[in-house]
Amino acid sequence: MPGFELWSDKERKEVNDVLETGILMRYGFDGPRKGIWKSKELEEAICKRFGCNYAQLTSSGTAALSTAMSALGIGYGDEVITPSFTFVASFEAILSVGAVPVLVDIDETLTLAPDAVRNAITPKTKAIMPVHMCGGMADMDALQAICKEHNLFLLEDACQSIGGTYKGKHLGTIGDAGTFSFDFVKTITCAEGGVVMMNSKELYEKCDGYTDHGHDHKGADRGADLHPFIGYNYRISELHAAVGLAQIQRLDEFLAIQKKNHGILKNMLAKLPGVSFRHIPDPAGDSCSFVSWFLPTKEATVAVVNEMKAQGILAGNFYWFDNNWHYIRKWDHLKNATTLNSLHPELKARVMEQANKDFSASDEVMGRCISTAISLLWTEEQIKEKGEKMVAAIQKVLNEQTITN
Ligand SMILES: *Cc1c(COP(=O)(O)O)cnc(C)c1O
Repeated sequence: MPGFELWSDKERKEVNDVLETGILMRYGFDGPRKGIWKSKELEEAICKRFGCNYAQLTSSGTAALSTAMSALGIGYGDEVITPSFTFVASFEAILSVGAVPVLVDIDETLTLAPDAVRNAITPKTKAIMPVHMCGGMADMDALQAICKEHNLFLLEDACQSIGGTYKGKHLGTIGDAGTFSFDFVKTITCAEGGVVMMNSKELYEKCDGYTDHGHDHKGADRGADLHPFIGYNYRISELHAAVGLAQIQRLDEFLAIQKKNHGILKNMLAKLPGVSFRHIPDPAGDSCSFVSWFLPTKEATVAVVNEMKAQGILAGNFYWFDNNWHYIRKWDHLKNATTLNSLHPELKARVMEQANKDFSASDEVMGRCISTAISLLWTEEQIKEKGEKMVAAIQKVLNEQTITN
């Protein structure tokens, strides 16, 4: 899954270009930087590789989501619909702009269930934010239709699905805006970084200013820039962009390894009658960073997790149902609206509503789901060995369960 596994001379070379000039900032210093503009180059490479008109790099994927939401005008009083299964960054970003995160159920796509989205729409809903989890994708046709019908923004959190596509278009470039994260464990990394991708020039200019204290970047003299609106500092550094520039050139190599390794492991699991797989609306577009599979019951799934743990083969297998970072069940800090600074009382009350919602439909899916992360470093023998051990553990549990039932 992560690009850091194949760190190479290419990344070292790009970083060295920046170290040679010592200009670590992405703006200004036109003379001393001697023509080295890694952030700009990476933005151009992103537009070209993924097929969007504009790309704005940021300091993280979380910052990219906050930036996209601000640029779309999402803020006080607005509701953003997002899934119960995601990384905490999704709701953090919604809260950062003062909007209300409305968490709704997922289905076997492992992201937004279109019916649950429909039921959650109110006059205050401003955007739908699917999260393309674990390398796969949301049912984009259904979500786009809902957005059109209700005049809502579609913001794609594609942080985990770099290189994935839906009906020929790259995830993250289909909605009004989309984001990637380039944190250390993503498909390509900058160490830390993110990007907002979009086709609207107006939106791009807002993202560009917002990430740099509202600078309009219109003139050559940074000090003389105007500030048409208030921004923040969500800038990426040239060192980080340099790493990303090397990594994006290697993305096809990474994706090819991912697909190959994923295919071998998935075929082994598919031979087991009790195992089924996550629904992928466009199977050809799976980025294959994980293989996500289901067992018939939650009890069997817990037993398989315990069996794999006992055998020392659990590493790289994620049982999200019990995970602190990715699933609503253990987000007590969100359910209690525990923040360091006070939230507006109205927002606080709305955030705490998440605690009383019924997520049994999500529990039903997540309770039976295990995701196996695909490493770029595995040899074919290692995958086979891993697959055989997993298959044996699953078989053992399923046999025991049929006997006791
Ligand atoms: C990684 C991730 C983010 C945020 O990325 P950071 O760069 O770590 O801030 C957002 N959403 C999802 C789904 C992610 O996996």
